[in-house]
Amino acid sequence: MTSTVPSTPRQSGQIGGPADPIGGVPGAPMTSRAAQLVARVATGLDGAPVQMPAPYTGLPVATLPQAGAAEVRDVFGRAREVQTRWAARPVRERQRVLARIADLVLQHQAEALDLVQVEAGKARLDAFDEVSATALVAGYYGKHSARILAPKRAAGVLPLLTTAKELRHPKGVVGVISPWNYPLALTAMDVLPALAAGNTVVQKPDNQTALSALWLHELAEQAGLPADAWQIVLGRGSVIGDTLVEESDYVCFTGSTPTGKRLAGQIAERLTSYSLELGGKNPMVVLPDADVRKAAAGAVAACFSSAGQLCVSVERIYVHESIHDEFVRALAERTEALTLGGALDFRAGMGSLTSEDQLRTVSSHVDDARAAGATVVTGGRPRPDLGPYFYEPTVLTGVTEKATLFREETFGPVVSVYPYSDVDEAVARANDTDFGLNASVWTRDPRRGAEVAARIKAGTVNVNEGYAATFGTVGLPMGGMKDSGVGRRNSAEGLLKYTEAQAVAVQRGLRLRPPRAVPARVWTRVMTSGIAALKRLPRR
Ligand code: NAP
Repeated sequence: MTSTVPSTPRQSGQIGGPADPIGGVPGAPMTSRAAQLVARVATGLDGAPVQMPAPYTGLPVATLPQAGAAEVRDVFGRAREVQTRWAARPVRERQRVLARIADLVLQHQAEALDLVQVEAGKARLDAFDEVSATALVAGYYGKHSARILAPKRAAGVLPLLTTAKELRHPKGVVGVISPWNYPLALTAMDVLPALAAGNTVVQKPDNQTALSALWLHELAEQAGLPADAWQIVLGRGSVIGDTLVEESDYVCFTGSTPTGKRLAGQIAERLTSYSLELGGKNPMVVLPDADVRKAAAGAVAACFSSAGQLCVSVERIYVHESIHDEFVRALAERTEALTLGGALDFRAGMGSLTSEDQLRTVSSHVDDARAAGATVVTGGRPRPDLGPYFYEPTVLTGVTEKATLFREETFGPVVSVYPYSDVDEAVARANDTDFGLNASVWTRDPRRGAEVAARIKAGTVNVNEGYAATFGTVGLPMGGMKDSGVGRRNSAEGLLKYTEAQAVAVQRGLRLRPPRAVPARVWTRVMTSGIAALKRLPRR
């Protein structure tokens, strides 16, 4: 195996720094816009406000009011009042609001890109992933909700005499808890289908990235969403989480596996339904026939988009031994060509980590892997010269089982590459994890790729792509197996989870008990023949 000398990814123009507060970025008066957005939630909150720093600079962008339990209860009360009126609107009308949101997001994308960059610290192209995912998901439910929610006929127990259909009713008020890493896209993916189904929503975004959620909220009201149908509460999970869970008729949580497990315990007490979108340790398998250069380019996007702070990003790569060294060289070369920087333009290929906590975790995982015998092929250093939380995209080889990141999610721009000798071994190693969120397979033979994909225990698997093919195909379900979650977002499933199924059957003529004149023995014989005959009827 060949190692390349660690090098320094290039840097682009920076913004921020003590003399250049982020609010002063030309063309992006973010602090005043932030204040306008925050004003949308600023009434009646009495928790101590918190300051939200911009990752590029560490300087504050917004002061966020914080709710306490009493405010959260008030907000749910208002959401409950509006819910029956919102649900009474025809689905097509609700659907049209979502279709308009899709248009507005595309029209006003420049502002969304600025906001996502400023509060999450990501590169502008990665922020555009959020804009496109938001428009795609709003467009999808803006087009398909009425079809998905339409009453479905089912074959009744007695042909012609039992007419049966399945209805879908909204759950009520849905509580949505969102993380900081994909603030716009995950808000859209979790909130919009809940609204389309006739629910109202109370969302708790992460303080770090509340502005993106507030921005989409503003657009939704412009698109015709009634006031209070979607409300945003700001506050720490440890302070308002319990109340939010207690008040919700359905909880949609996206975040880490430990928090998800804790919440699931609380929710189960109340027999409320929920979905959990949790962490991953996503593998990529490079088959022996793969195009090495394409696979390496794909790996850079799969591992370093949003500085690796993406639940579906790749952290483990298994490469056939015949092409392992060539792959590592190509990956290192492309990684070193990534431009790091924090500017509100498209020059940088990778942005900053989002917080000091993230920098601490990433640094400690890499240092620990190194101490446990790993080789740092490239990267492996913080870059305070670029901004307080920048860290180089990092490729490791020779990672041993002793290293924390061998099994644990790093959630940063760090990937480990391992050689394997046969495909069964690669599949077994890909599956040797408690997680099961996303995976990627690279090959010149798409059919072979699809066969291997089906053997990997992950909720989404991409062939010749890292994550974007499934992530962008919003008509497909997205979510995790094993410790990566419960339930799915996107697709029909992501809408139906926010509904209660109701079966309605109308019986005519014969009842389903023997008439008084017919002995039970005769009745059971007739029914037995009938059930057997039903089995033989052609399927409809
Ligand atoms: P986290 O610490 O679990 O926090 C996620 C959200 O939950 C935040 O808004 C947080 O707010 C809130 N929260 C924490 N404790 C709570 C409680 N007791 N009650 C109610 N809410 C509570 O996760 P994170 O570090 O922000 O996010 C990164 C993780 O999310 C990674 O593991 C990543 O893989 C995962 N993720 C998964 C997906 C997916 O689709 N599967 C998508 C994105 C991210 P506070 O911070 O205010 O407490």
